[in-house]
Amino acid sequence: MQVARETVVTIEYTLTDDDGDVIDSSAGHDPLAYLHGAGSIVAGLEAALEGKSAGDAVTVAVAPGEGYGDHDSELVHVAGRDQFPGVPKIEVGMQFRTGSEQDSMVVTVVALEGDQVTLDANHPLAGVTLNFDVKIVAVRQATANELAHGHPHGKDGTDHHH
Ligand code: ZN
Repeated sequence: MQVARETVVTIEYTLTDDDGDVIDSSAGHDPLAYLHGAGSIVAGLEAALEGKSAGDAVTVAVAPGEGYGDHDSELVHVAGRDQFPGVPKIEVGMQFRTGSEQDSMVVTVVALEGDQVTLDANHPLAGVTLNFDVKIVAVRQATANELAHGHPHGKDGTDHHH
Protein backbone atom coordinates (compact mmCIF):
# COMPACT_ATOMS: atom_id res chain seq x y z
CA MET A 1 0.00 0.00 0.00
CA GLN A 2 1.19 3.50 -0.84
CA VAL A 3 1.09 6.58 1.35
CA ALA A 4 -2.02 8.56 0.39
CA ARG A 5 -4.87 10.45 1.99
CA GLU A 6 -6.72 8.38 4.60
CA THR A 7 -3.81 6.08 5.33
CA VAL A 8 -2.05 5.75 8.68
CA VAL A 9 1.70 5.89 8.18
CA THR A 10 4.26 4.71 10.72
CA ILE A 11 7.72 6.23 10.40
CA GLU A 12 11.10 6.28 12.07
CA TYR A 13 12.76 9.64 11.61
CA THR A 14 15.65 11.88 12.48
CA LEU A 15 15.39 15.64 12.04
CA THR A 16 18.55 17.73 11.81
CA ASP A 17 19.25 21.38 11.09
CA ASP A 18 21.76 22.58 8.51
CA ASP A 19 24.59 22.32 11.08
CA GLY A 20 23.85 18.62 11.44
CA ASP A 21 22.53 19.05 14.99
CA VAL A 22 19.68 16.67 15.83
CA ILE A 23 16.47 18.59 16.56
CA ASP A 24 14.21 15.58 17.03
CA SER A 25 14.35 11.84 16.50
CA SER A 26 12.22 8.76 17.00
CA ALA A 27 15.35 6.80 17.98
CA GLY A 28 14.85 5.29 21.42
CA HIS A 29 11.07 5.82 21.20
CA ASP A 30 8.23 4.08 19.42
CA PRO A 31 8.01 5.01 15.75
CA LEU A 32 5.60 7.85 14.97
CA ALA A 33 2.18 6.95 13.56
CA TYR A 34 0.25 9.76 11.85
CA LEU A 35 -2.85 10.17 9.70
CA HIS A 36 -1.70 11.21 6.22
CA GLY A 37 -3.41 14.24 4.69
CA ALA A 38 -4.59 15.61 8.03
CA GLY A 39 -1.87 18.24 8.29
CA SER A 40 -0.47 16.73 11.47
CA ILE A 41 3.13 16.73 10.23
CA VAL A 42 4.87 19.61 8.42
CA ALA A 43 3.58 20.14 4.88
CA GLY A 44 6.92 19.61 3.15
CA LEU A 45 7.45 16.22 4.80
CA GLU A 46 3.89 15.10 4.12
CA ALA A 47 4.34 15.92 0.42
CA ALA A 48 7.65 14.02 0.26
CA LEU A 49 6.10 10.86 1.75
CA GLU A 50 3.11 10.81 -0.63
CA GLY A 51 3.16 7.70 -2.85
CA LYS A 52 5.91 5.93 -0.90
CA SER A 53 5.60 2.42 0.56
CA ALA A 54 6.67 0.51 3.67
CA GLY A 55 10.43 -0.08 3.60
CA ASP A 56 11.16 3.07 1.60
CA ALA A 57 13.72 5.53 2.92
CA VAL A 58 13.05 9.22 2.27
CA THR A 59 15.52 12.05 2.73
CA VAL A 60 14.12 15.53 2.30
CA ALA A 61 15.19 19.08 3.10
CA VAL A 62 12.09 21.09 3.99
CA ALA A 63 12.51 24.83 3.47
CA PRO A 64 11.15 27.09 6.26
CA GLY A 65 8.15 28.08 4.10
CA GLU A 66 7.05 24.43 4.03
CA GLY A 67 8.06 23.89 7.63
CA TYR A 68 7.57 26.28 10.57
CA GLY A 69 7.62 29.46 8.51
CA ASP A 70 10.19 32.14 7.87
CA HIS A 71 11.63 34.07 10.76
CA ASP A 72 9.63 37.29 11.17
CA SER A 73 11.74 40.10 12.61
CA GLU A 74 8.55 41.95 13.62
CA LEU A 75 8.01 39.26 16.26
CA VAL A 76 11.26 40.20 18.02
CA HIS A 77 10.88 42.77 20.80
CA VAL A 78 13.09 44.35 23.41
CA ALA A 79 11.76 44.69 26.94
CA GLY A 80 13.25 45.98 30.17
CA ARG A 81 14.24 43.60 32.96
CA ASP A 82 11.79 45.45 35.22
CA GLN A 83 8.97 43.90 33.15
CA PHE A 84 9.78 40.52 34.74
CA PRO A 85 9.19 41.30 38.42
CA GLY A 86 8.63 37.67 39.45
CA VAL A 87 11.77 36.33 37.79
CA PRO A 88 14.91 36.60 39.94
CA LYS A 89 17.33 35.65 37.17
CA ILE A 90 16.60 35.95 33.44
CA GLU A 91 18.64 33.74 31.13
CA VAL A 92 18.88 33.24 27.38
CA GLY A 93 16.63 30.35 26.35
CA MET A 94 13.95 31.01 29.00
CA GLN A 95 10.40 30.95 27.69
CA PHE A 96 7.44 32.98 28.89
CA ARG A 97 3.77 32.93 27.97
CA THR A 98 2.39 36.39 27.25
CA GLY A 99 -0.92 37.88 26.22
CA SER A 100 -4.45 37.04 27.26
CA GLU A 101 -5.79 33.56 27.88
CA GLN A 102 -7.51 33.41 24.48
CA ASP A 103 -4.63 34.95 22.57
CA SER A 104 -1.40 33.92 24.23
CA MET A 105 1.96 33.18 22.71
CA VAL A 106 5.26 31.81 23.86
CA VAL A 107 8.26 34.12 23.68
CA THR A 108 11.87 33.03 24.05
CA VAL A 109 14.64 35.14 25.55
CA VAL A 110 17.25 35.30 22.77
CA ALA A 111 19.61 37.99 24.08
CA LEU A 112 20.45 39.96 27.21
CA GLU A 113 22.29 43.23 27.23
CA GLY A 114 22.47 45.43 30.27
CA ASP A 115 18.90 46.15 31.30
CA GLN A 116 17.47 44.98 27.97
CA VAL A 117 15.88 41.63 27.31
CA THR A 118 15.34 40.60 23.67
CA LEU A 119 12.28 38.39 23.22
CA ASP A 120 11.44 36.37 20.10
CA ALA A 121 7.85 35.21 19.53
CA ASN A 122 8.68 33.18 16.41
CA HIS A 123 8.34 29.39 16.55
CA PRO A 124 11.74 28.07 17.73
CA LEU A 125 12.13 26.33 14.33
CA ALA A 126 11.05 29.33 12.22
CA GLY A 127 13.64 30.06 9.55
CA VAL A 128 15.25 26.64 10.02
CA THR A 129 15.62 24.21 7.12
CA LEU A 130 14.33 20.84 8.35
CA ASN A 131 16.43 17.91 7.14
CA PHE A 132 14.38 14.75 7.58
CA ASP A 133 15.80 11.26 7.31
CA VAL A 134 12.76 8.97 7.31
CA LYS A 135 12.16 5.25 7.05
CA ILE A 136 8.59 4.16 6.38
CA VAL A 137 7.78 1.29 8.72
CA ALA A 138 4.15 0.62 7.78
CA VAL A 139 1.25 1.98 5.75
CA ARG A 140 -2.35 0.91 6.29
CA GLN A 141 -5.85 2.15 5.57
CA ALA A 142 -7.21 4.39 8.33
CA THR A 143 -10.32 3.16 10.13
CA ALA A 144 -13.59 5.13 9.97
CA ASN A 145 -13.08 6.00 13.62
CA GLU A 146 -9.60 7.39 12.99
CA LEU A 147 -10.84 9.48 10.06
CA ALA A 148 -13.63 10.89 12.23
CA HIS A 149 -11.13 11.76 14.96
CA GLY A 150 -8.43 13.05 12.61
CA HIS A 151 -5.66 11.04 14.28
CA PRO A 152 -4.44 7.43 14.39
CA HIS A 153 -5.32 5.01 17.17
CA GLY A 154 -2.01 3.21 17.49
CA LYS A 155 -0.29 0.82 15.14
CA ASP A 156 -3.38 -1.27 14.29
CA GLY A 157 -6.17 1.28 14.78
CA THR A 158 -7.54 -0.25 17.99
CA ASP A 159 -5.51 1.65 20.59
CA HIS A 160 -8.20 4.09 21.63
CA HIS A 161 -7.64 5.56 25.07
CA HIS A 162 -9.56 8.80 24.94
ZN1 ZN B 1 -9.30 9.27 18.66
